[in-house]
Amino acid sequence: MNEKTALITPYGGELIDLMVPDAERAELRAYANTLRSVRISERAACDLELLATGGFSPLDRFMSEADHQSVLDTMRLTNGYLFPIPVPLPVDEETADSLKIGQDVALRSPSNELLAVMNVEEIYPWNVEEVALKAFGTLDLRHPIVAEMHGWGKYFISGELRVLQLPARYDFKSLRLTPAETRARLEQFGHQNVIAFQTRNPLHRVHEELTKRATMEKDGVLLLHPSVGMTKPGDVDHFTRVRTYKALAQRYYDPDRILLSLLPLAMRMGGPREAVWHAIIRRNHGANHLIVGRDHAGPGNDSTGKPIYGPYDAQDLVEQFSEELGVAAVPFQMLVYLPEEDRYEEVTKVNKETKTASISGTQVREQYLQNGKQLPEWFTRPEVAEILAETYPPRYRQGVTVWFTGLHNAGKSTTANVLTTLLQEYGRNITLLDGDVVRTHFSEGLGFSREDRDDHVRRIGFVASEITRHGGIVVCAAVSPYRATRNEVRNMIGGENYIEIFVDTPLEVCEQRDTKGLYARARRGEIVGFTGIDDPYEAPQHPELTVETLHHTPEENAHMILDMLIEQGFVRTEEPGLRDN
Ligand code: ADP
Ligand code: ADP
Repeated sequence: MNEKTALITPYGGELIDLMVPDAERAELRAYANTLRSVRISERAACDLELLATGGFSPLDRFMSEADHQSVLDTMRLTNGYLFPIPVPLPVDEETADSLKIGQDVALRSPSNELLAVMNVEEIYPWNVEEVALKAFGTLDLRHPIVAEMHGWGKYFISGELRVLQLPARYDFKSLRLTPAETRARLEQFGHQNVIAFQTRNPLHRVHEELTKRATMEKDGVLLLHPSVGMTKPGDVDHFTRVRTYKALAQRYYDPDRILLSLLPLAMRMGGPREAVWHAIIRRNHGANHLIVGRDHAGPGNDSTGKPIYGPYDAQDLVEQFSEELGVAAVPFQMLVYLPEEDRYEEVTKVNKETKTASISGTQVREQYLQNGKQLPEWFTRPEVAEILAETYPPRYRQGVTVWFTGLHNAGKSTTANVLTTLLQEYGRNITLLDGDVVRTHFSEGLGFSREDRDDHVRRIGFVASEITRHGGIVVCAAVSPYRATRNEVRNMIGGENYIEIFVDTPLEVCEQRDTKGLYARARRGEIVGFTGIDDPYEAPQHPELTVETLHHTPEENAHMILDMLIEQGFVRTEEPGLRDN
C-alpha cells in the first residue's frame, strides 16, 4: 500500500508547532542565556512538550486569563474550540512580583535544561477552590490534582513561546513519537480509522480483548498510546509498563494493525473532562476513535469513600461531544471473564447465574505478586506476568530494614547481633549497620551535637534504603533519639519495608549497665549532650514492635522479631526443596 491514507485533520485545522527553526536556534539559545530563568515543574514541562509539538492544538501557549476562565466556565477556549482541562503555568508570588509584562524569560526544566523563551504577556492570580470545583468537580484532597494544586504558585503566567528543546528523554526513545511523527507512521498503515487506546496501567488480557474488539469492529489500526508523563501517584512505574506494552505489541497483535507510541502526558485524573481532553489529544495524533471504558482517567474515591465521578460519566461526556470533536467514543461496558467458556464478555451481557472471574489491582499485588504466585494465563499473558514479577518480587525476595532505636546500652547491638545470626540460618543476605561501628566508617568526624547525630542517622538511613531497594535485609542499631529523623528514614525506605524496634529499657537500667562508663562521664559533665542525661530521647509512638530487656533475654527478643519477619513474609521458613511454589 503505497498511497498515503488521509487521516483526520488536527483539531483546529493544523498542528501547532512551537519549535524554533534549526537555523535560528543557536542565536536564540545565546539570547536565552542572557535572560532571567524561570524553573518550571515536571508537570509544566510535560505540558510544554505537548504544546510545542501540537498535542494540545489549537492551544499554543500556557493559558491566558481569559482562556483559563473560559475553560473553567464553558470547557471552551475563547476562540470557541472545546478544551476542557486548564493548562496553566504557575509561578510563586515572589517570581510574579519581580516579572514585568513584555519581558522575555527563559523557561527551564526541573533539571535546569533550557527549554524555551517565553514573552510574559500576562501575570494573573488564580483561585485553587474555583479551579478544583469547576474543572475537577470537587474540593476533596483525595483527588490527586486537587491536593497537588494546593502546592502550586499563586499566579499563572502566559505569553508567546519559542521552544528551543523538548525535555530530554533517554528511555524508549524509538517509541516516543510526536503528533507529526505518529501521523506519518499511521498513514503508512493504510487505514482511515485509527482507534486510540489510552492507559496508565500494565495491560492484561481484558485490555487486549477490548482493543482487539474495537479495532476489528472499526476495521482500523490501533494506536496504543499509554500516558508516560505523570499518572496517578502510586501507579506502576512507566519503565515496567512500557516493557509490558512492547511484549504484547510484538507477540499478540497483528503488526499491520497496531502502532505503539508513548505520550508524555501529565494526567490530571480529571475523569469526564479529562476523557474529552484525551480525545482532542488523540485527534491531534491522527486518531478518529478513542476507547473509553469504565471510570476513564478516574481519581479513585473521595475522603468519604465515594467515587468522585460516576463510572460511565466519561463515556457520556465524550459521546456528547463526539461529533464536534471528530473523535467517536468506542464505549465499553466492563468486561468480565467467563471461566466456563474461557472468554471475555461485557458484564451487561452476562446473566446472573453465569460464573465470572476477575482479579483487582490490589489482589494482583497482595495475593499474587507479594507471595510470588504466578498470575493465571486467563488474566494476563505470561510475558506480562514475568515483567511484573520482576518489578514486584515476592516479600521473601524484597529488602527490609529492621531499625533498632533506644537509649545507649538499652540492648540494641546485643539483640541485633543475635537476630543477624538467626536470619542467616534462613539464607537471607544481611548487612548489620551498628551505629558505633558505622561511626568509624562513613560518619567519621561527626560528633554528638543535634545536627551531627541527625546526619549520622540519615547516612545510616541512606545506606539502608539502598540496600533495601536492592533486596537485602539491613539490621540497624543506633540510638536515633529524634522522632522526626527516624520518620525521615522511614519515608526514605518506604513504610512497608521499614520495621522499627523500640528497645524499651529504663534509663536507670541502662545507666547501671554502663558498659563503657559513658553515663558516669556524662553525669560528671565530661560529655555534654548525652541522650537521656542532658539531651532528650524521643520514644517512638508507633513502633512496629517494642522489646523489653529486663524480663526477656536477647535471644528471646530476637526470636520475637524473627517471628514477625516470618509472619510478614520477609523470611520463608520451608527449605527450597520442600516449597510448594
Ligand atoms: P485511565 O486512568 O486512563 O482510565 P486505565 O489504564 O485504567 O487508565 O484504563 C484505560 C482504558 O481502559 C479506560 O478507558 C478504561 O475505562 C478502560 N478499561 C480498563 N479496564 C477495563 C475493563 N475491565 N473493562 C472495560 N474497560 C476497561
Ligand atoms: P546498645 O546497642 O543499645 O547501646 P548494647 O547491646 O551495646 O546496647 O549493650 C547492652 C548491654 O546490656 C550489654 O552489655 C548486654 O549484655 C546487656 N544486657 C543485659 N540484658 C540484656 C537484654 N535482655 N537484652 C540486651 N542486652 C542486655
